[in-house]
Amino acid sequence: MSAADKVVRPEIRAMRAYQVSDATGLVKLDVMESPYGLPKELAEEVGRLVAGLSLNRYPVPTAQKLRALIRRVMQVPAGCDVLLGNGSDECIQYITASVAREGAVVMAPTPSFAMFSMHALFYRLRFAGVPLRADFSLDAEAFLAAMAKECPALVWIAYPNNPTGNAFPVADIERIVRAAPGLVVIDEAYQPFAGATFMPRLAEFENMAVMRTVSKIGMAGLRLGYVAARPEWIEAFDKVRSPFNVNVVTEAVAIKLLENKAVLDAQAARVLAERERMRPELERLPGLTVYPTAANFFLVRVAGGKGAGTRVFDALKAQGVLVKDFSGGVPSLENCLRITVGTPDENRILLTAMREAL
Ligand SMILES: *Cc1c(COP(=O)(O)O)cnc(C)c1O
Repeated sequence: MSAADKVVRPEIRAMRAYQVSDATGLVKLDVMESPYGLPKELAEEVGRLVAGLSLNRYPVPTAQKLRALIRRVMQVPAGCDVLLGNGSDECIQYITASVAREGAVVMAPTPSFAMFSMHALFYRLRFAGVPLRADFSLDAEAFLAAMAKECPALVWIAYPNNPTGNAFPVADIERIVRAAPGLVVIDEAYQPFAGATFMPRLAEFENMAVMRTVSKIGMAGLRLGYVAARPEWIEAFDKVRSPFNVNVVTEAVAIKLLENKAVLDAQAARVLAERERMRPELERLPGLTVYPTAANFFLVRVAGGKGAGTRVFDALKAQGVLVKDFSGGVPSLENCLRITVGTPDENRILLTAMREAL
């Protein structure tokens, strides 16, 4: 037994670290990034901006200017505040930490975003997943029954959901928020591709928060997420925050890019148009089930027995395309692949490779 084995918590020893594939030389369609970089002029402005920063100084801990800008451009309702995170992954950590009483339960539909259950584990909370139906639709009755039984302190609803891509019915989410004994966080990581949002309804529900990220609209490398809610929630999350969690480069560059949000919106619109163009092309392929999506990716299931999905994944990779393979994890995702929407060229390569692979 190593010295680490003696002291590291057994449930941490038993975990696999978060897997990110090496995408060198591949068409990268695995993690829902925007396929578009910045226009040259804007990139040069960012370069000058970074050159002028005082990197010897700590960030302003409250990030006032960026928070005010986010409240304005993201239309956070009056009377609500925002907390910034080093990616929304970090917001998940802070939210979980702030409700982590002994014995508290965290709940979410499953499959959903892995970080919801991981942070529950880190903070010694019990994660109670409520399975989606076989077609990945939300079983609202089952979810409400599970909430009544488990009395969760925290409920996560990804809207749209990752990795399934679908957006659950608004009426079902409303029922969950109304019935929840604790906090419900709507994770709107894919809001730019979904159109719909719960943001304007924050004023209506005292026990709801809305979390977003800029990662899927072209700033994944910056690491910036945020959560909007009534001030009493934000004050609590803020107490468990690392004081300088958003660094000076992220803050300055995010301000510059959000001031130019029209550029990012236009890129997201191109991704959305490509998604709609790809959908019938994917649906036409034999041996592939294409699930409904309101996000910048498709979840598909490869027909066939055990190993069919991974065989297609490997064949795509051999042709230079990286997607995400869900086989070997949760059983409901066996033979499922998740394909991020890329540029028209990238999507053409993917579709050609997919025809070959199937
Ligand atoms: C990508 C994703 C996030 C995390 O985004 P970051 O801001 O990059 O940490 C959060 N929630 C869901 C559902 C996601 O798919």
